[in-house]
Amino acid sequence: EVKRSGRGSVHSYDSKLLVEQERRLAINQALRQAMPSDELYLEYQPVVGAKTGEIEAYEVLLRWESGELGRIPPDEFIPIAEESALIVDIGEWVMREACKTILDWSGFAGGPKVAVNVSVRQIVVPRFARMVENLLLETGLPANRLIIEVTESIFDIRRTQLISEVLSDLHDQGVEIHIDDFGTGYSSLSRLHQIRVDAVKIDKSFILNMDINARAVIEGAILIAHRFGLDVIAEGIETEQQRSELAAMGVDAYQGYFFARPSSSPCDDPHWQKTESNV
Ligand code: C2E
Ligand code: MG
Ligand code: MG
Ligand code: MG
Repeated sequence: EVKRSGRGSVHSYDSKLLVEQERRLAINQALRQAMPSDELYLEYQPVVGAKTGEIEAYEVLLRWESGELGRIPPDEFIPIAEESALIVDIGEWVMREACKTILDWSGFAGGPKVAVNVSVRQIVVPRFARMVENLLLETGLPANRLIIEVTESIFDIRRTQLISEVLSDLHDQGVEIHIDDFGTGYSSLSRLHQIRVDAVKIDKSFILNMDINARAVIEGAILIAHRFGLDVIAEGIETEQQRSELAAMGVDAYQGYFFARPSSSPCDDPHWQKTESNV
């Protein structure tokens, strides 16, 4: 294709790559300053129980307002942080802040859990489970109020054995393990039993565009997850219609703009609880 379209195209193809490369490099450089310069902060989005209508957890979502590059979405900078191993320090900071914040909001006696996204790159660092254990001790958050979200990529790489051991260790401590973006990978359904998992989170792409194919994936995922004794969370719910369809399919918990957008403060106006029919 590139050859066929002649010299001019080859040139623009190369320069497009170059621009992307330069952008990644700039992000990588700026990201090194992000933590010391206080450019990172967290937002929290409620996860709502389907039966109770109550906030069961908050998912922590990392935000970066770069002095140099402006606001950069996590889908763009997290992969770069993962490549350079910066994600290890950033990820530890995220988890510590998240544990402290959820305690600030609800106290030690009980309250919503906090769900932290964790990259494979963090899990394979020696003594990751120990680091988490120490964080829980340091902050005072009970282990059963921490959820670790990992993507299906944990099944794609050759270190599934190590990852499985680390996650089992955390699971034994009481930490919940959730599989994020469920349905976007290819090898996970048959491998779910290899890792101690408590819940799967169906990827928002299936919910945002719930056509007949997406519906089949969602129904299949719910069937299999429930068969394995796992809960099912649906993310990306933007409308009441999506919520009620997912309720009918048997989803256990909801997350999405319909309930609340990610925010720096706790959700103190659970509008969906006001009408009985919404739950
Ligand atoms: P994720 O873990 O699947 O998080 C859910 C994403 O869906 C978030 O995007 C959230 O803002 C968005 N979302 C929630 N409800 C809706 C909705 O109703 N409609 C739509 N269209 N989107 C919705 P966000 O915040 O941009 O984060 C993107 C991804 O970046 C996350 O996907 C996660 O994979 C990664 N990420 C975010 N924070 C961290 C972190 O601290 N560590 C790591 N390793 N990854 C993170
Ligand atoms: Mg997540
Ligand atoms: Mg997701
Ligand atoms: Mg994701």
